[in-house]
Amino acid sequence: MIGPNQTAAPRRKTRQIRVGSVLVGGDAPISVQSMTITKTADVEGTLQQIYALAGAGADIVRCTCNRQEAAEGLARIVPRSPVPIVADVHNDWRMAMAALEAGVHGLRLNPGNITNPERIKAIASEAKDRSVPIRIGVNAGSLDKTLYEKHGGATPEAMVESAQIELAYFDEVGFEDVKISVKASYVPLMIEAYRQLAEVTDHPLHLGVTEAGPGVAGLIKGTAGIATLLAEGIGDTIRYSLTADPVDEARAGRQLLEAMGLRERKNVDLIACPSCGRAEIDVIQVAQDAMAAFGDREIPLQVAVMGCVVNGPGEARDADLGIAAGRKKGHLFIKGRNVAVVPEDEMVEQLVKWAELIVEEGVDAALAKADPKAAAAAEADRAALLDEQGADANASEVRVDLIRRNIGGAPPG
Ligand code: SF4
Repeated sequence: MIGPNQTAAPRRKTRQIRVGSVLVGGDAPISVQSMTITKTADVEGTLQQIYALAGAGADIVRCTCNRQEAAEGLARIVPRSPVPIVADVHNDWRMAMAALEAGVHGLRLNPGNITNPERIKAIASEAKDRSVPIRIGVNAGSLDKTLYEKHGGATPEAMVESAQIELAYFDEVGFEDVKISVKASYVPLMIEAYRQLAEVTDHPLHLGVTEAGPGVAGLIKGTAGIATLLAEGIGDTIRYSLTADPVDEARAGRQLLEAMGLRERKNVDLIACPSCGRAEIDVIQVAQDAMAAFGDREIPLQVAVMGCVVNGPGEARDADLGIAAGRKKGHLFIKGRNVAVVPEDEMVEQLVKWAELIVEEGVDAALAKADPKAAAAAEADRAALLDEQGADANASEVRVDLIRRNIGGAPPG
């Protein structure tokens, strides 16, 4: 008998790690990841994409950290992201250090790119001190040259050995919070590499078919690789790599897990900001109250609870409906357009009322009932809060200063 969160084959037992608020491995639900395609230095654009990805089903989002400006962007993005952020580090070890300084919840290192053992160990030590996990992201296309030559190509054995070499460096400094991927664009190679890896480690595995390409072909390649392994009980977190809007990647990941009975279907998709120095309410409490109020009701809307009117409506502009707090009021918005101002203690009640209205009469009818003064009221509260709190309520600039000072003193490479 197959039930929820079960695969045809028993799920492989892995150790569990924590990526911010998301558990990966062990008996944790299989999580969905995606990656932003914005410049990470573009904080507002990246946050909007992160919210869109979270809304489409991403539990964890990766952002590139390829230069100092990107690291500085991460320092500003992390406190406002609704989901844990993983920094993708390329060739420069200093970017790993800077991303850790920025407060990211995870790192991805490619053993084919950063090869100096002392630097790898320095990154692992720093990650250990900060309790930040690392993904060893082996990629067939960028396999270490020595291994490529030794094995006569990017074989499954070469990819597994690459991961094991990196793991050994981590072991030397006592770092164990690791997940591993061995991605390839050729599906049979990817499947065999993961099967072999699953035999030799109990670290959680991140599944993906890399560079799967656009459209249906990309979806089929990704699904062929990921679903095959999931059905064998292999895999703890997944990512589709499509040549497409990353929202499609997140949606595909979520839908695959739902189709395989590995994640439950949703009614209201409630998203909430993680809260930060700008929050005007207890976001966790209001989000929990909203969850309880919506319960199992068949309201297939994405609903956002946002801690402040300064950034909330923009960050959650793709949500069907949302509410953002500000100066003892709740500012309701539909698809980013302000529709009403309600007392703070009626935020949840009004959220449910407007959600019902959208479901019963449609978005256009709900927008037609908007209070014409709502947008100006939201703008006034936003301006007043900016005036009171200043532009840097999260003290991100302190971290940015540290990144600048540390990078200034360290050689690249
Ligand atoms: S409190 Fe405002 S700025 Fe902070 S995470 Fe929530 S919506 Fe974003």
